[in-house]
Amino acid sequence: MISNWEHVRPDKDVFASFLGIDKAQFCRCLESSLRCGERAIRAHSVQNSHLLDHLVRDGHVVGLTHSVTLSEGPKIDFGLVGRNQATTFTGLCASHDDLIFGPIEKNELDFTSPEHRFLLAYRAAYRELHATMEGAMKAQASYLERVRRNLDPKDSPSPAGRLANDRMLVSWETYSYKGLLDAAYVKRDFSLMVHDVITLDAQRTSVAACTLFSVDHIQVRGDVLRIHLNVLPVAPHTTVVLFSYLRSHASLARPFLERILGSNGPHQRYELSRLILDSCENFVLSPTYFDTWGVEKRNAVLDYFVNTLLKSDLAYECADLYLF
Ligand SMILES: [Zn+2]
Repeated sequence: MISNWEHVRPDKDVFASFLGIDKAQFCRCLESSLRCGERAIRAHSVQNSHLLDHLVRDGHVVGLTHSVTLSEGPKIDFGLVGRNQATTFTGLCASHDDLIFGPIEKNELDFTSPEHRFLLAYRAAYRELHATMEGAMKAQASYLERVRRNLDPKDSPSPAGRLANDRMLVSWETYSYKGLLDAAYVKRDFSLMVHDVITLDAQRTSVAACTLFSVDHIQVRGDVLRIHLNVLPVAPHTTVVLFSYLRSHASLARPFLERILGSNGPHQRYELSRLILDSCENFVLSPTYFDTWGVEKRNAVLDYFVNTLLKSDLAYECADLYLF
C-alpha cells in the first residue's frame, strides 16, 4: 500500500519493535468520570445480538483488515471477521457497557425514541474517542522508539514527533467533544442532539457501520462540524441510517448532508456509500453480498477508502462505490 516501501523499509530488528507497537491495544473504560478501573471488554459498536444477524454467514462478516509485512509494508484489504470481533472496541468495561448501552443492545431499536437515538450516537463517540486514544498512544510510542534508536533527534522537531503531537491533539479534541455528550447523558438531556433517520428498503441488507467523523473544512464555534453516522440492518431487507449532530450545529450539518437527505433511490444509496467509505473505517459487509463483487469493484472501493484516509474527497465519482 505504501508505494515507496522499498525505500523506507526498516531493518528486521526495527521492524519487529514497530510491529509490537502496531499490535498494541488501548484498553480502558472510558465512562465519563474516567475513574473506572475495571478491565475493558470488547464492546460492540453495532448491536451484535440482532442487527449483525442480517449480515452474518457462518459466524462471519466481511470487514477491513490491516496487516504489515517486512517485504511488502502495510496493507489494507477485505477479509472475514468473526461476528464477536466485528465492530468492537476495548473502551468500556462490562458493567458500564451494560449500564449505558443496555437499552439499545437488549431491546429492539426504536428510532422514534429520543433515548435510543441519543445512545446510538453516543456509542459512536465512545468508539471514536477510543480510536483516537489508541492512535495517539501508538504514534507516541513509535516516536519514542525512534528517538531511543537514534532515528530521530530528541530535542528538535521530526515528522514522527509532529505526528505524535497531531494525534494527541485530535484525541484531546474528541475527548472534549465527548464531554458535551457525557454531560447531557448524565442529565438525560437527549435534546442536545438532533437526528435524521432514513429507511432504505433493498433486495437484501449488505452493510452496517458506526462512526463519528469530523468535517474539517467546516469550522463551528472553535471546533469542527462533527457528525455521527449509524448504518443499521434492522430486518433482512431494511436498513436504517441515522445521522446525529449537535442541535447547535444543525444549520451547518443539514447543508453538508443535503446530497443524501435531499435524494432518494439509487442516487441516495450512492451518496451514502461514498460518505461511508470516505469517513468511516468501522463498517462491515455481508459476505454473501461481498461475494458478488468483481475484482474491479473491490479494487475501486479499496482505492477510494485508502485515498481518503488522510483527506476527504466527496467530489470523486465512481460507479463501483455502491455498498447497498
Ligand atoms: Zn467501567
